[in-house]
Amino acid sequence: MHDIDIDMVDMTMDVMKYAINRITTTSPELGKPKKAEELKALVGETVTPEGIGGEKAFNLFKDVLVKATVPIDHPRHLAFVPAAPTRAAIMFDLVTSASSIHGAYWMEGAGGIYCENEAMKWLVSLTGLPEGAFGVFTSGGTAANLSAMVTARETWRANPKNQNKKGVLVTSIGAHSSIKAMAKVIDAEVVLVETEDRMSGTDLKMAISTMDADKRQRLFAVVATGGTTNAGIVDDLDGIAQVCETENLWFHIDGAYGGGALAADSVRHLFKGVERCDSITIDPHKWLFSPYDCGAVIYKEPELAKKAHAQEGSYLEIFKDEGAHGFNPSDYQIQLTRRVRGLPLWFSLAMHGTDRYKWAVEQGIALAQLAGKLITEHPDVELVREPSLSCVLFRRKGWGADDYRNWTYKNHGEGLALVTPTKWKTQDGFETVSRFCFINPDTTQADIEVILNSMG
Ligand SMILES: *Cc1c(COP(=O)(O)O)cnc(C)c1O
Repeated sequence: MHDIDIDMVDMTMDVMKYAINRITTTSPELGKPKKAEELKALVGETVTPEGIGGEKAFNLFKDVLVKATVPIDHPRHLAFVPAAPTRAAIMFDLVTSASSIHGAYWMEGAGGIYCENEAMKWLVSLTGLPEGAFGVFTSGGTAANLSAMVTARETWRANPKNQNKKGVLVTSIGAHSSIKAMAKVIDAEVVLVETEDRMSGTDLKMAISTMDADKRQRLFAVVATGGTTNAGIVDDLDGIAQVCETENLWFHIDGAYGGGALAADSVRHLFKGVERCDSITIDPHKWLFSPYDCGAVIYKEPELAKKAHAQEGSYLEIFKDEGAHGFNPSDYQIQLTRRVRGLPLWFSLAMHGTDRYKWAVEQGIALAQLAGKLITEHPDVELVREPSLSCVLFRRKGWGADDYRNWTYKNHGEGLALVTPTKWKTQDGFETVSRFCFINPDTTQADIEVILNSMG
């Protein structure tokens, strides 16, 4: 649609001004949701036969709608897994859109895919996987996990005796919800190891040994977590790798959140064994400072992913001819048409260098350690467990679930912070506690203190 005219030029200036202003504001207003009816009452009809005009639509967005969103890069947004995309990556996200690159096949996307692959090489190098390992950028961790699980299942089913069987995979209750959700998509059965703490090779062996013969025969994969979303716990990757090798099982690691920590020398030893996996998920949009959305899946043997994912079709054949000269991202994950969503990461890496990334990840770990110390020294709160990666679980002495919920809403309502309660499994069931997850290197000690003091 070539709608370039004078209005369009003004609009472009307005949009660029907004973007520049937004990325130079390090502490944006902490917005909160409104009901759809309230938003409707505030903005009226926006999609009409004649159109309401760019200026009006943009003003409604700036003045009303964006204020009903929570900026994930706010330094006191410490809930879920926040994010802190670099300015370079955000600006290059605009460039990625403007360049209209189809990222499915080398034939159309070569230059863009080349950049993605340069960034991917760095990610692969962090894992220590052997020569030949490679990966592709996806829309996120869920899509990366699904792509890996499909590859695992198809590899298992390549054996004629497994062809019509329903597969079984083992993971732990600390695994992310997307593992169970994607197991549904591929119609696989999930066996859960009952620990939210570090799943060990011994735990896994035990789970396998208690399976009946039928289940054992259908077992094809193990999913370990490289940094649980709730508590930052890294499973015993080396021990699990050993069991997978002995039992001939696909070993997938979900490092959607924690994978960024592979760049941090201070915690790299926790990931011993990562180099033995068959596939790993890492989300650059979580702890590698990329804007949404950008996940990644890496395979030890990409050829297996290609067998599972390459799409056939008469109108696609031309891509395959030319594609033979290069890398076709569509062959290694579930999506065909795709944005070159690794491009913003590439630009930011190229601009800043990988040392700066190491520093920024270490900063999140240092903030978690600092928070642990402040919590220990504070009279009203205590640690539930030692901080792990950039996650800190802590309790306010004497509080129950309602207290945590009310406190969360109060802080959010006042625009102070977004820190949410979570649950931690104890021997007597689940305890409601609070949790910090640090990603943003701009979060300060004062930010942590003001949040802890608000629990008074
Ligand atoms: C966030 C997360 C996911 C899901 O990733 P999306 O990018 O949200 O799809 C999967 N696994 C883990 C461990 C996560 O933290």
